[in-house]
Amino acid sequence: MVKVISIANQKGGVGKTTTTINLAACLNEAGKRVLIVDSDPQGNATSGLGIKKSDVSKDVYDVLINQLPMKSAIYHTKRVHLDVVPATIQLAGAEIELTTQTAREQRLLKGLAGVKAQYDYVLIDCPPSLGQLSINAFTASDSIIIPVQSEYYALEGLSQLLNTVRLVQKHFNPELSIEGVLLTMYDARTNLGAEVIEEVRKTFRDRVYQTVIPRITRLAEAPSYGLSIIDYDRKSRGAEVYQALAKEVMAANGDK
Ligand code: ADP
Ligand code: MG
Repeated sequence: MVKVISIANQKGGVGKTTTTINLAACLNEAGKRVLIVDSDPQGNATSGLGIKKSDVSKDVYDVLINQLPMKSAIYHTKRVHLDVVPATIQLAGAEIELTTQTAREQRLLKGLAGVKAQYDYVLIDCPPSLGQLSINAFTASDSIIIPVQSEYYALEGLSQLLNTVRLVQKHFNPELSIEGVLLTMYDARTNLGAEVIEEVRKTFRDRVYQTVIPRITRLAEAPSYGLSIIDYDRKSRGAEVYQALAKEVMAANGDK
């Protein structure tokens, strides 16, 4: 059974895209067929996996607005069975354009229905907002992974995110759940990180992943080469931690 997971937090720069790319690559490394849907107009997941925006002729905008079959917007990466439905800047218009369309919340769900049987995991990289793009992502998802940056105010804004989740559960997708909360960019040199971890664990309890992603320079370098961390530096600590996260995600889904 395919699992569709949104990677979401309306704060920018918390590690959503880094997590989408590297979790996807590590699931793929473990033998899974993975599709990334880039639902952020910035298209960082697209370029971070080596897909040139100039080579993209069909993207997630066409699926949402023109109701193009998703099959024709799937691009392959260097990894076999790691595919991407890309985003380009035209997706920025979708947020407004969707508001006048019918069944707007279900556009991504409908698009995915035609392709998801070919994958084990679909990861949706969400934009830093809680508008129509995120609502489409949540409506199409089984669950959500929330990356939280290990800093003060980490929990700020999460109540808005959880409100949006409840709204989507109520109106469009009652089965939607929280897959897990992921602490990112942890800095062991400050006490701050440890305090934040404790606070987040107190709030989200066993929904917080055991794996904590430290701040690691190589994780920030990899996307500029269009590579995930395991293709950029397989032996690095960054590859290790994202592989540990992939294991946790697979275990939670009864997967080996
Ligand atoms: P978001 O998608 O939530 O906006 P990104 O994944 O793009 O966040 O991360 C924001 C910035 O921080 C990027 O430049 C990224 O390379 C960097 N970054 C993300 N995670 C880490 C990490 N664990 N260590 C170091 N840099 C990171
Ligand atoms: Mg991003």
